[in-house]
Amino acid sequence: MKSGIHPNYHEITVECQCGVKFATRSTYKEDELKVAVCSQCHPFYTGTSKFVDTTGRVDKFRKKYGLK
Ligand SMILES: [Zn+2]
Repeated sequence: MKSGIHPNYHEITVECQCGVKFATRSTYKEDELKVAVCSQCHPFYTGTSKFVDTTGRVDKFRKKYGLK
């Protein structure tokens, strides 16, 4: 455990079961993430989009249409 106080959007290394490693940005608290599939072995997944903080998007959506 490093900082661990609140989610920190930072660069992490993703390691896939197929052996591919790539860097992405995530709020995931670890520096390394192991996944079952990646963009290299499964075209459906774009890799990084799986780890995007979707709650941030919802919050933006609410602010855009809920406020004012
Ligand atoms: Zn893979």
